[in-house]
Amino acid sequence: MRKIAIIGGGQGGLLLGFGLIDKGYDVTLYSDRTAEQVLHARMASTAFMFESSLKLERELCLNFWEDLCPYGEGMHVDFRGPDGSVALSVQGRLGDNRGQALDQRTKFHRWMNEFSRRGGRLEIQSISLTDLDRISAENDLTIVAAGKGAISSLFERDAARSTHETPPRVLAAVLVTGSNLTGDRPWREIPFRPLRFNFIAGAGEYFSLPFYTHTRGECRSYLFEAVPGGPMDIFQQAKDGAEMLEAVRTCVKRLTPDQAEHVPDDMQLADANAWLKGSFTPTIRKPVGTLPSGRLVFGIGDAVVLNDPIAGQGANNTNRMVKAYLEAIVAHGDKPFDREWMEELFNGFWETSGQYTTAFTNALLKPPTPPIQELLGAASQVQAIADGFCRNFNNPPDFWPALGDLDAARALIAEKTGAAGHGECADVA
Ligand SMILES: Cc1cc2nc3c(=O)[nH]c(=O)nc-3n(C[C@H](O)[C@H](O)[C@H](O)COP(=O)(O)OP(=O)(O)OC[C@H]3O[C@@H](n4cnc5c(N)ncnc54)[C@H](O)[C@@H]3O)c2cc1C
Repeated sequence: MRKIAIIGGGQGGLLLGFGLIDKGYDVTLYSDRTAEQVLHARMASTAFMFESSLKLERELCLNFWEDLCPYGEGMHVDFRGPDGSVALSVQGRLGDNRGQALDQRTKFHRWMNEFSRRGGRLEIQSISLTDLDRISAENDLTIVAAGKGAISSLFERDAARSTHETPPRVLAAVLVTGSNLTGDRPWREIPFRPLRFNFIAGAGEYFSLPFYTHTRGECRSYLFEAVPGGPMDIFQQAKDGAEMLEAVRTCVKRLTPDQAEHVPDDMQLADANAWLKGSFTPTIRKPVGTLPSGRLVFGIGDAVVLNDPIAGQGANNTNRMVKAYLEAIVAHGDKPFDREWMEELFNGFWETSGQYTTAFTNALLKPPTPPIQELLGAASQVQAIADGFCRNFNNPPDFWPALGDLDAARALIAEKTGAAGHGECADVA
């Protein structure tokens, strides 16, 4: 039985571990925290996952919360001027690409316990470079899924694929309950349970998603992506959850006064740890790390493809990587997991998927390019274009070629407009 070690008990490490156990591998997973510590920690993410990600978890019988999590059925996006006035709205349905957002504390705690139950070995240890050398000597393959953990810096930054030198946004997020936040129609004017996005020129963006956490059940997330030093950048002084909640109210009311009813007086944090703040520099790294002994380790997830959360793609991208890695490991049989195999696998993933996810994410961090302007303008008028745009979040390569080329964008608009007719825009906000 081939032995595989995984460093990191998060989205990528655990999911890959389950997939490998399912295929008969001998898997040891190293986590720097116990399941109980994860459960009672501050939240680290507000990840929404689309259908193809959920499908992979369903196939591995890891979808314990599928009936509890409220589905996000579509998106409503307001593009606003600096004064908060709405210049353009796009409202689209996700259809069968709909998704769910589950508290990662809830998920990883249960998955860690389940991992041992299914025959995986779980070691609680913060892995150092020295440990990694020992582990890689004992295993046929060692995969680092340590996310933004310091150890991921053993993978060299790929300057050609990385576009950021500093954090493009300063982040803050909360999970909340209260009036006009949960239920089937929290925004009365939107005919489905929405992912609610606001893009505010010069200030940044904020996102509110239907959410589930073990501490409160159904709730909502708010994620703020502030342009550093801009009018939304008011969260980093908050010292605790109460101050963070107050900053959320202030920010929403000040920048988007029409949204005041969605930060109601009875709004509460889901629990004392249901908030986060901070920033990081999105970085694409080389996938193969060389240890002092000369042995190799292979990166997956945020450890090597770390993007800003603006497009909600990090965990989704990680699941896509897990699927690609799992298939390739099985297909490789008993052959050695050498540098050539690792680079070919990662580069293949990058060419077909990762580069598009990264380019789409980076496009949202900048003022819209001409093709994006035309696509969004058309999406605000033609329902089929709005639905298509939203559905593509499930698989970013589907945004191409239209997203990167004005002629292709116009061809898509002509095709969809001809097929759907402008008459269908009646229920577009
Ligand atoms: C505010 C915010 C919002 C987000 N929203 C979305 C979204 O809507 N959709 C989406 O798809 N993605 C989203 N993401 C991104 C998503 O959370 C990550 O991309 C995803 O969790 C990455 O999975 P991973 O396995 O690479 O890393 P992680 O899930 O971070 O797991 C890494 C694990 O490794 C452990 N570790 C670190 N160092 C060591 C060590 N030395 N030894 C042992 N263990 C170690 C850590 O404790 C951690 O448990 C968001 C992120 C943020 C910050």
